Amino acid sequence: MKKSDIHAQMRDELKDKRLFDQARQYVYEYIDAVDERPVFPDERAIRNLDRFDEALPERSQSAAGILDMLNAYGAPATVAQTGGRYFGFVNGGVVPTALAARWMADAWDQNPALYVISPVVGKLEQVCENWLCELLGLPDGTVAGYVSGSSTATLCGLAAARQALLRRLDWDVNAKGLFGAPPIRVIVSHQAHSSVFKVLALLGLGKDRIERVPADSQGRIDSSRIPDLDDRCLLLLQAGNVNTGAFDRFEEICDPAKKNDAWVHVDGAFGLWVKASPARKALAKGVELADSWSVDGHKTLNTPYDCGIVLCRQRDSLVAAMQASGDYIQYSDHRDGMMHVPEMSRRARAVDLWATFRYLGRDGVAALIDGMCERAAQFAEQLAIHRFRIRNEVVFNQVLVAGDTPAQTRDTLANIQASGVCWCGGTQWDDEPAIRISVSSWATTPEDVDRSVEAFVDARSKAMADYADGRGGHAETGQKTAP
Ligand SMILES: *Cc1c(COP(=O)(O)O)cnc(C)c1O
Repeated sequence: MKKSDIHAQMRDELKDKRLFDQARQYVYEYIDAVDERPVFPDERAIRNLDRFDEALPERSQSAAGILDMLNAYGAPATVAQTGGRYFGFVNGGVVPTALAARWMADAWDQNPALYVISPVVGKLEQVCENWLCELLGLPDGTVAGYVSGSSTATLCGLAAARQALLRRLDWDVNAKGLFGAPPIRVIVSHQAHSSVFKVLALLGLGKDRIERVPADSQGRIDSSRIPDLDDRCLLLLQAGNVNTGAFDRFEEICDPAKKNDAWVHVDGAFGLWVKASPARKALAKGVELADSWSVDGHKTLNTPYDCGIVLCRQRDSLVAAMQASGDYIQYSDHRDGMMHVPEMSRRARAVDLWATFRYLGRDGVAALIDGMCERAAQFAEQLAIHRFRIRNEVVFNQVLVAGDTPAQTRDTLANIQASGVCWCGGTQWDDEPAIRISVSSWATTPEDVDRSVEAFVDARSKAMADYADGRGGHAETGQKTAP
């Protein structure tokens, strides 16, 4: 092929669309098969990933061949996260309308850094901000920044906190950095998500100098052990413990914290959406008193990946923390997305987030969240009947399950993961291994739970049969941290 042909070829591909029809066909096949295939890829699918180990091609390869390769060797090695029986980590499924909207946005290939770069995404970011405040019951004037996930959203929220707390102490952290700065105190529960500690390290707040507060049996911060707070304090709370789904007691904690002018940030990655459920929103009563919040669209709201959101009561603090300037940057009177986030260029997440909200409506979001909670309760009830131990109070979408002994729990989990019927992760809870079920997809039906419970029972029977045969397993399946 001559050098210049690649351009003509790409023009032809856009024009004749066969490429897109082929991709669409493969997507339809994927969607139709996702509930029947193994939830975790089988050994053959994993082995076939070796096909991708090739030298960087010297010349252009056929477009159809590239899609064929993804379909033949990529798709089978995905985890069936969009199906009804994936319960790993806290990975959400996907709302079909949001997926379709994302396809459109992908074709538009927008960059929402500035309004002038993409008026439509600027507009949708604004609309989503209003809808988020309404749905989550957050104070008027709260601003949103659209980022990759809760880790980055927490980074933004804590950067705003750092900026605001130090400004009160007459210290401009953007200009002077942290060297020589007056100290601020950071108060965090022992049960904070691992991403919080990563963020504290990234922001120079130091993982070892923070004040750690013990948690209760459900992983809630122990309110009575929170030290006296003042206007130099940053307090981190949690809406939805990643293992138990428990919520910190916001009402009891936020009110005095605010009276003492501490900054409160809430990690609500998957749990903050509880506020959209009239039946369950009392679990997070008082969360709206905080100063900043992080939440994910891609978890329990089921937007496509990736979609994280930082929300901040004080626009100025967030914008000051995310300050950016450059001679060529053309700010407008409209919303300029990059003022609220660390990045300049980003994908147009607001398109699929907006489509999710508009499709579901207020009732639909509540139905989504309530459905997950009901399926989690069903799991707990049925597993208890089958003599599994339920290790947490099932208040939300998370269930922690254990067998009779730590070894039995581990081996049962290994057998579940190998079964292909469903997939769960493992964790350590109260010094004991546990199987961790996270119901995070709208696609999980009561029948999916029935089938999965059967898989649990079979997996335990297999473990016990192995012990009887003297083939005790030594499974290594416990994931310590989880998204
Ligand atoms: C998933 C999760 C995070 C991290 O979110 P990402 O979107 O994976 O960056 C933080 N906190 C909690 C409680 C989570 O569940």
